[in-house]
Amino acid sequence: MSVDGIGTGVAPPSLGRSRNMAAIRRSDTKPEVALRSALHRQGLRFRKDYPVRVEGRLIRPDIAFTRQRIAVFVDGCFWHSCPMHGRQPRKNTAYWGPKLDSNTARDRQQTALLEAAGWRVLRFWEHEPLETVADQIGQTVRGDVRDSPVGLSPDYGTPVSE
Ligand SMILES: [Zn+2]
Repeated sequence: MSVDGIGTGVAPPSLGRSRNMAAIRRSDTKPEVALRSALHRQGLRFRKDYPVRVEGRLIRPDIAFTRQRIAVFVDGCFWHSCPMHGRQPRKNTAYWGPKLDSNTARDRQQTALLEAAGWRVLRFWEHEPLETVADQIGQTVRGDVRDSPVGLSPDYGTPVSE
């Protein structure tokens, strides 16, 4: 079944809303922009939408600390089915249900791939308080820098269960 609903007899939502949603899918959504500013204020250096190739897949964390191998994702409540706000839309469920489920599956898969490749993955919901998120990222990044003052050992990033 095609994901855009074409040829499936399932109409994509024709609300003006869908245009809105398309617009907020990619980077530079407001929460991300605000978060990047907060991280800059902490003096942190990072890359946005940095492509990480893992097992032939291209994964683009919203924010990447390449030296420390920390990948940050800010997940939209709707698109990633946040437990607080990610209620399944009541209209066009045949359209949205599989789409949102596959987003969630892809999130998990990307996290697993990155972790297997030695990245630490931090995921936040867009509804989480900006300062809390920024602090948590800052602590993680600085903690890792302090732990490995001479740079990263080759085997750094072996997945740690916490
Ligand atoms: Zn939420």
